[in-house]
Amino acid sequence: MSDRGCSHLNAIESIRQPERRECEECVKIGARWVHLRTCQTCGVTLCCDSSPNQHASKHARATAHPVIASAQPSERWLYCYPDDALAQY
Ligand SMILES: [Zn+2]
Ligand SMILES: [Zn+2]
Ligand SMILES: [Zn+2]
Repeated sequence: MSDRGCSHLNAIESIRQPERRECEECVKIGARWVHLRTCQTCGVTLCCDSSPNQHASKHARATAHPVIASAQPSERWLYCYPDDALAQY
């Protein structure tokens, strides 16, 4: 695998895709989201930083799961929170 800019991104061999196209946490509280991200450690799909509740960032901080992938069908990228590193795939 080519160098993606950090050890977390380099360690990813296959990209986890969203099981459902909704934010699990927003669904629970009846909130809306803008875009979705899938945690590459546990596979949960949560909402992005443009969404009011920013569940993906909160999840990353709470769990120390470092890498998300965009869950938008038109977007193909990974992002590492601790290293602020973005990689296209
Ligand atoms: Zn990293
Ligand atoms: Zn959410
Ligand atoms: Zn996770």
